[in-house]
Amino acid sequence: MQQDGTNSTNFGRMVVLPASFAGNPRHMNQLYQDSMAFVRKFGKPDLFITMTCNPNWPEILHELRRGEETNDRPDLTSRVFSMKLNALLKDILQNGVLGTAVANIHVVEWHKRGLSHGHILIILRSQDQPRDNIEYDRIVCAELPDKSTHPKLYNIVASRMLHGPCGALHPSCACIVNGPCSKGYLKTFQPQTEDSTGSYPTYRRRQDLHPPHVSAAVGNLASELLSCAL
Ligand SMILES: [Zn+2]
Repeated sequence: MQQDGTNSTNFGRMVVLPASFAGNPRHMNQLYQDSMAFVRKFGKPDLFITMTCNPNWPEILHELRRGEETNDRPDLTSRVFSMKLNALLKDILQNGVLGTAVANIHVVEWHKRGLSHGHILIILRSQDQPRDNIEYDRIVCAELPDKSTHPKLYNIVASRMLHGPCGALHPSCACIVNGPCSKGYLKTFQPQTEDSTGSYPTYRRRQDLHPPHVSAAVGNLASELLSCAL
């Protein structure tokens, strides 16, 4: 109650935003219900793909003004990320590079000051769904590419897709929570991809892969890096 006798709660008019107002609870609930309807009709998703914005993409670096860093230009990183995400979705949904998709759900997120990243769920038609370790290996690889035959791919994976080093090599790493790595690294080496009931497969991580690059001097580190891949 105010001094002049008016009550501040009586001012204004309550407005219920419709689901078409992006980001509000009705909109999010509608998207969630749509996603559940997909799963009810087509079954559980077969592929879970994450794409993260890379601040070193040339399309971003070329557009920075003098003295600017990637962090200063969320407008630029968001646009470049959006174009590349659309290109990836076109490859998956229209060109069918991973099989014919019958349904897809994707979301783009920004975590605080972080870069844009997208999570994509794909449901494949029945005959394209991976069902054994040979078909899993055709789609997913948790090993480093061969440095001599695929140097460009090796550099991309080694610089962008390795977890850590953490554990004994870097005990103060952010992933260390009360002892072990909270993300489950180091992963153990495994000669073959294996199915596991009720969860995703455990992927092949061969210890003796590309032995010429694992010299005795860096053996421990290289082994850790190999097992950290993906
Ligand atoms: Zn870790």
